[in-house]
Amino acid sequence: MQRIVLASSNRGKLAEFSALLADSHFEVIPQSELGVEDAEETGLTFVENALLKARHASLATGLPALADDSGLCVAHLRGAPGLYSARYSGTHGDSAANNARLLRELDGVTAEQRGAFFICVLALLWHAEDPAPLIAEGRWHGRVLDAPRGERGFGYDPLFLPHEQSLSAAELEPDVKNRLSHRGQALTKLHARVAELKA
Ligand code: IMP
Repeated sequence: MQRIVLASSNRGKLAEFSALLADSHFEVIPQSELGVEDAEETGLTFVENALLKARHASLATGLPALADDSGLCVAHLRGAPGLYSARYSGTHGDSAANNARLLRELDGVTAEQRGAFFICVLALLWHAEDPAPLIAEGRWHGRVLDAPRGERGFGYDPLFLPHEQSLSAAELEPDVKNRLSHRGQALTKLHARVAELKA
């Protein structure tokens, strides 16, 4: 087993990562268990923030580090909430308020113009000075509903209707969401990159 530190303290994401990595050879330890504080997310893109978070966790623990940065990008809002997805309403992690703001911003906007995607960028550093991190990206396309649906998942899930689905992301079974989602896609790609390195 290779111990790696997961640079995230978001509970919804931790649960998804643990399920997705359950049968891998990685033992994932959340950074909070190792006393690591959240890094400052000062990047201007998801990939920059994922790297900042992974480097911070690796430096603090001396372990390889996996970080993700993710969010929801709505075309009609020029990519917002984007990097600010977790604090769109002004309060970090207040999903109800974030969702309420998203609905306000899209008030009166037709279904065709409510196209959006979730994005997840994963960065894996073997050590804090690693100059060649493994990076993988996943995107999950769909549109923003005009009212919340479903109780599962977290964040914007109740407002997100994935393409070719009749259920919102918060109505899907967790294993179905994990298979389709931006995070699931990015992890599948990262597994392949790690396997390539070993081959
Ligand atoms: P991060 O912790 O900086 O990556 O912020 C991610 C934010 O994007 C979360 O707090 C959610 O608001 C949103 N988000 C990311 N992935 C998902 C998802 O799978 N479902 C719903 N919201 C998500």
